[in-house]
Amino acid sequence: MDHLPGRLSHASIVTGPDPEGRRQRVLELAAALLCRAEGPRPCRRCDDCRRVFAGIHPDCITLERQTDAKGQLRREIQVDQIRDLGADAAVLPNQADIKVYILEDADAMNAAAQNALLKLLEEPPAWVRLILSAASGEALLPTVRSRCVTYAVPGEAPEPAEYREEALAFLDLAARGDRPGLLALCRELEKLDNAGCTAFVEQLRAQVTAQLCLRSRTPPLPREVLPGLLAELDLAAERLRLHVGVRHVLGVLALLDVPGKK
Ligand SMILES: [Zn+2]
Repeated sequence: MDHLPGRLSHASIVTGPDPEGRRQRVLELAAALLCRAEGPRPCRRCDDCRRVFAGIHPDCITLERQTDAKGQLRREIQVDQIRDLGADAAVLPNQADIKVYILEDADAMNAAAQNALLKLLEEPPAWVRLILSAASGEALLPTVRSRCVTYAVPGEAPEPAEYREEALAFLDLAARGDRPGLLALCRELEKLDNAGCTAFVEQLRAQVTAQLCLRSRTPPLPREVLPGLLAELDLAAERLRLHVGVRHVLGVLALLDVPGKK
């Protein structure tokens, strides 16, 4: 791919379910913008390219979700962060001709943050380039999207690792129609907090999705029950987001009518 900066938009969105693939494309774009080689850019050899890929270029600035007092990533990118970015963007570059701002998890911007970003997209200082990175562009305002060039990076979301054993056990019991087994397993999981139970449900979703996509060798539930099960898991995830009790959510899951092979 030819990455001549003259042809690169001042604002881009990189989308794709795989964070690692997305990150590579974002860095390629940033390096292409900052690279000062004569030939195809990014050359990957010049000082600017090397620094971008190493994450230490003084004019390549990454903005991420902040962490809260417990060290957990905040769910949203706050408007203050975008305002700070705007203030920083008004300052001339350190050593390059331009400044590249990378917004990780841009789809985590709340509406106020996106509107603040829109102002910057509408009237950016001449030296500012923006790269938004998001699993999907759907959470972004159409007015934000329309000002950016979108690059879709193919790939698959990584399978979550947590509670894999428990999720496989759950599906195995469901496949065998073992109701007492399901109840016992869910009772055991009641010790989880909201975050833990959310991870368990997420793992179940990943496993069921894998079965739907025929990517899995895990317990064979009848194919026709998978979409319904996925919908129930979406509901469970939604309930957890609304802070419905873990015991209740697990109770519903244990009693789901999954017609396994009896
Ligand atoms: Zn270069």
